[in-house]
Amino acid sequence: MINDSAAAIFNLQPDQVLGRTLSESIRNSALQEFVRKALSSTGVVEEEIIVRTSDERVYQVHGSTLADTTNDGLGAVIVMNDVTRLRQLERIRRDFVSNVSHELRTPITSVKGFVETLIDTAPEDPEEVNRFLHIIEKHANQLSTLIDDLLVLSHIEQGDLNIDELIEKGAVDPVLVEAVEACDHIADARGVRMKIIGNSSSEPRLNPALLQQAVVNLLGNAIKYSEPEGIVELTVTDTDDTVTISVTDHGRGIDPQHLPRLFERFYRVDKARSRELGGTGLGLAIVKHIAELHGGRVEVQSQIGVGSTFSIYIPAQ
Ligand code: ADP
Repeated sequence: MINDSAAAIFNLQPDQVLGRTLSESIRNSALQEFVRKALSSTGVVEEEIIVRTSDERVYQVHGSTLADTTNDGLGAVIVMNDVTRLRQLERIRRDFVSNVSHELRTPITSVKGFVETLIDTAPEDPEEVNRFLHIIEKHANQLSTLIDDLLVLSHIEQGDLNIDELIEKGAVDPVLVEAVEACDHIADARGVRMKIIGNSSSEPRLNPALLQQAVVNLLGNAIKYSEPEGIVELTVTDTDDTVTISVTDHGRGIDPQHLPRLFERFYRVDKARSRELGGTGLGLAIVKHIAELHGGRVEVQSQIGVGSTFSIYIPAQ
């Protein structure tokens, strides 16, 4: 006998299995082997079994024998728990730890290498010393940005932010002006001009500091991936139910194959180039989280050689 939930796992109806053996009803050799083991053991047996129907799911399966009052065996009861999501989360966490370690190791190896060279072979030429110190500074800055980004992410993800306390009705325009000001120096350094287009009269529920951080991340990317002397547009539009904040650049654009994964942590189109530009691969993951925290979402449209537009949509009330 199987109950409705178990029948659903195997795409069956509960009454289809009555009067039939297990192997006639369910073609899963791991499960058949498991049931054989459960029937022949005295205690509880446990195992993980993969079931493939339309997709692949992982079940933690417990089995124990049933006996009547005279201790005659009646069979076994098998309980299956779907642990697919749990296993996925464990894998994501393992990948994350390994990515973070890798990202930290790259700049640290470099800092160590240059410091050791300075100690061992102290170059005579002050210019050479200066060059080494600048390389060390660059990698130290990269470490510090990475740790800042990780802290922002973990702060947002921990759920230690109480959304209702955190967001309240406020104007969008001042957030945009401050985001542009915060990016002024990097835009100047690359000779890129930023322009705010439109204004918003809505008062959505928002957290100014977090929304500013999201816009700064988008502007920072747009500036980094623009050609020198390029223009970056920050556009805001209101509709009855949504405020849209878009950042458009006229840079190199992104190949469509990368777009679905762009907002994943540490996903980068060109790792070496991102590092060279001081990127951490976390910027867009932070933008996505912040948009979601506001009850909104983020989208990207891009065309190679034409440029990219990243848009944050947040509910207008
Ligand atoms: P990073 O710190 O590397 O910029 P992000 O999470 O901000 O990390 O972005 C992930 C990747 O998306 C970048 O490495 C880059 O390849 C691509 N990307 C982001 N914004 C743009 C853009 N405006 N133009 C082209 N590519 C971009």
